[in-house]
Parts: sequence; structure tokens; C-alpha cells
Amino acid sequence: MPDHDVIVVGAGNAALAAAVSAREQGAARVVALEKASEELRGGNTHYSGGLLRFAYANPRDLAPLVPDAERQIPNFFRDVEPYPAESFREDLMRVTEGRTDPELSEILIGRSFDTVSWMAKQGITMEPALSLSGVRVGDRIKWSPGAVIRARHEGVGLSRSWFEIARDRGVEIRYGTGVTRLLQDRRGRVTGVGVHDAEGFSELNARAVVLGCGGFEANPEWRARYLGRPWDHAKVRGTRYNTGDGLRMAIEIGALPHGQWTGCHSTPIDAGAPPHGDRKLTDKTNRLSYPYGVLVNAPGRRFFDEGEDFQFYTYAKLGGIILNQPGGVAYQIFDSKVTALLEGRYKTGKPFVADTLDALVDKLPIDRSACRRTLGEYHAAISAGTFDPAARDGLATKGLTPDKSNWAQPLDAPPFVAYPVTGGITFTFGGVRVNDRAQVIATSWAPIPGLYACGEMVGGLFHTNYPGGTGLMSGAVFGRLAGAHAAGE
Ligand SMILES: Cc1cc2nc3c(=O)[nH]c(=O)nc-3n(C[C@H](O)[C@H](O)[C@H](O)COP(=O)(O)OP(=O)(O)OC[C@H]3O[C@@H](n4cnc5c(N)ncnc54)[C@H](O)[C@@H]3O)c2cc1C
Repeated sequence: MPDHDVIVVGAGNAALAAAVSAREQGAARVVALEKASEELRGGNTHYSGGLLRFAYANPRDLAPLVPDAERQIPNFFRDVEPYPAESFREDLMRVTEGRTDPELSEILIGRSFDTVSWMAKQGITMEPALSLSGVRVGDRIKWSPGAVIRARHEGVGLSRSWFEIARDRGVEIRYGTGVTRLLQDRRGRVTGVGVHDAEGFSELNARAVVLGCGGFEANPEWRARYLGRPWDHAKVRGTRYNTGDGLRMAIEIGALPHGQWTGCHSTPIDAGAPPHGDRKLTDKTNRLSYPYGVLVNAPGRRFFDEGEDFQFYTYAKLGGIILNQPGGVAYQIFDSKVTALLEGRYKTGKPFVADTLDALVDKLPIDRSACRRTLGEYHAAISAGTFDPAARDGLATKGLTPDKSNWAQPLDAPPFVAYPVTGGITFTFGGVRVNDRAQVIATSWAPIPGLYACGEMVGGLFHTNYPGGTGLMSGAVFGRLAGAHAAGE
């Protein structure tokens, strides 16, 4: 008789969803093995904004998730737009340039609402994600469709809730316990794991193992290997523990790699952000209001269409584009017409400030004459139109490379501010292939018996870019599936 029914590796959103789901489906002895100490537990989930993207046909469907919404935010249900499965599919297809895995994305989209409802039933409390997703226009709030709800107290609250729920359901959690390898019997069934903890090396066995131990974003050698230069230098937005261990262990026993191994999620963050995520600042180093400003690099040039789309559809690729600029930095310039639109988290930064645009440029450590030329060309290229922060307003430049496609207002209202940014890595897109039961598929294209994967370890969903709020949703969907099927082994 094995020591455990199900071993879950990791203790983020995906792993703890799996552990709770395994208990719910009848596994009596479930243990989650967390490489981090109790103090540093919870993976990227702790650092996240807690935003959840899911499909819903009618805004009223959100009522059971956020029963107090209308009291907190008058007319909440009137202002939120429906986000049917087709819209989620369109968004995912568009931002991944049609490359999202069709089978996996259907599972993600099709199970998203049911899974978020399941999370709420387990005890995850939620709230409207006003500061991330809402833009105030007159007396209405324009919500970014599909990404309206987040866990209360964001990732910190989500992670804390999962630990409490897991504990209440009788899941054992072992901290400071890194899994180093997978054990197999002679027929190839996964029968347990090798672990390294304060006592040294040992083995634990189980009927099934669920890997939910993240990507390789915190491993500079793997970043250099798969993402190339200059990713070995990237700042890590979240946990320092996601070093690709689960991917290595799975691939060592024949798992099939899947998805974009040269791709990752990375965002514009404060250039002064620490090398790894800060437990208190969490995601507050993000700088995502660039659609309303102008972005220049150290040679003083624009290099990205700041107004290509709303931030949630471009931010996850922009980090890498900034990191690849000379020096890996850029400057987001705004005037006072839009400073009220900047996300609250800009308050954690120290911008350059000046009363004229010229004086602002003088303060920036960049090629100033090139920057003045760039801004002059930008102003000359703005076409007529009306600025609307809540719609793709078509207020564009004409004839620039690249043009700014929306929200192209002149910088003409003092004071002027510039925020220095770099690209921070969030998580990697390459993973292992799983099926509709979250079983890990081998290079023989058959499932590896007894092995499941979820969360960042699932390859194939994201390519080049990503629609905001999908990582946690994918982790919960595949974690819940993995736990339920592992319980049946
Ligand atoms: C700053 C930031 C903001 C974000 N905001 C959002 C958001 O608002 N919405 C959204 O959807 N996504 C967001 N994301 C992405 C999201 O956090 C991740 O996609 C998600 O948390 C991944 O969940 P996971 O369970 O797969 O991995 P993680 O939460 O990273 O958990 C991995 C776990 O595995 C453990 N581990 C690693 N190696 C081992 C080992 N060898 N043995 C044992 N344990 C191991 C780690 O310690 C950790 O506990 C954000 C990420 C960051 C960093």
C-alpha cells in the first residue's frame, strides 16, 4: 500500500486546486510538496493580481461569485458586457496568432465558468477587479470583457485561501520539500517521487502524482537555452522557485514537450524592480497604462504601437520587446490629460517630471535629440478624432513606423511625466502535452500512467502573447481535472 493516494508537487493555484479536487473526489491521503519554505510559499500565485478570465453568457451569471458587487459599484451588472465562449475563443486565437492548441483551449474555455464557480464554492472569495479592469467614463464604468473578477486581496488572498481550504479538507502540506525525480515501476507507471528536504534525500510513493510546479522562468540557464539573449538577464516578476524542475523530471521519463518553448509572458515593469518578485509589492511594479502615452527607447525612438489594443491584449508581449531594446529599458511618457487614467500601481514608481516636454526629455538618460525628433514626428502624424479611453477610438497616427493605432493624443498638457520600464518575465509558455484528463502524454503519444500536470507546466495554450487573467484560470481548470482523475487511479 503506497504512503499516499495522490502526491501533488507544488503549492500554487494549480497544485492546490488539484489537491482539493483530489480530496473532493475521494482520495483520502493527499500531500502537497512545496519546495519553498512556509514563509515563501505559494509560487507565482501569491504575486499575481488574482484576475480570472472566464466565459459567461450574461453579466448576471457573475452574481453568485460577487454577491456584493452592485452594493460596492452601483450599476455593476448594467455596465459589464457579456463574454460568451466565442469571445474568449476569438481573444485567445487573436493574441496567440491562431496557434493556441485547439483541444486544450476548448477545455479551458468550456470549463472556465464552471471552474470559477467551483473555486467560489470551495471558499475563494472574489470581487470586481475595478483597479485592473475598469475605466471610468462619466458616470459609467467600462469593464474589459471577460476579465472582470479577481480573488479578493488579489494573489495574496487567493494563495492564502487555497492554503486554508486545503488544510480544512485534510490535505497535508510539506514545506521546504523539493521534488527531484519521478519514480516508476517496471511497467512505466509513476509510483512516487524522490524528494530533498532538511533531512536529506528520501522517497515517497503514491497511486498518482500531479505536477503543478511551474515553468522555468526563474532559471537563467534555461532562459538562455530556450528564450535566448537577453533573457538570462531578465528580472523575475514572481517566485524564485520555478526553475523548470517539473518539466525536467517529466521529460526525463519521456513526456512530450508541447507549445512555444521560445515564448514567455513578460510585462513592462518598473526599471528599478528587484531581481525577483517582492512579497509585499507583488504585481505593483507593473506599468500597463502605456496605451495612453508614448513609449521611447534609449536611442530616443518609438518601437511599439502603444495603441495596438487594450493593455490586456498587448502587455504580455511588450515586456520582451522592451527587454530586447538597447539596455533593456524604455520610457513611458504621459501628459496631465491622462495621468488620472494611469493605474494606481504607478504610485509605487518614481517618474521624471517636468513642466515642458523639452525639459522632460532633458532629464531622460537617452539620445535626447533623437527623442525630440521622434516626438515631433509623432505630433505631426496625429490624425483628427476624439479620444475615448474606454473604446478602440481609432485616434491614430499616419505614416510612422510603427504607427500608434488608438489613443494617439498630443503630449501638450503640463506637467509631463516619464516612467522608466524594463521587461520582467512572468512565466514560460513551453510545457508538456496533456490530454483532456490532464494526464501527461509521452513521446509515444500514450499517457504516462499515474502522471498528471497542470498550471504553467501545461504547454500549448499560449504563443507569443496571452490575454490577461488566463494563467490562473488555466491552472484552476487543469488542476481541478488533474486532481479528480488522479483520485480515481
Ligand atoms: C506578478 C504576477 C502577476 C500575475 N497576475 C496574474 C493575474 O492577475 N491573473 C492571472 O491569471 N495570472 C497572473 N499571473 C500568472 C499566474 O500567477 C500564474 O500563471 C499562476 O500563478 C501559475 O500557477 P501554477 O500553480 O502553475 O504555478 P505557481 O503558482 O508558480 O506554483 C508553482 C509551485 O511549485 C513549487 N515548486 C517549484 N519547483 C518545485 C519542486 N521541485 N518541488 C516542489 N515544489 C516546487 C513552487 O514553489 C510553487 O509553490 C501573474 C504572475 C505574476 C508573477
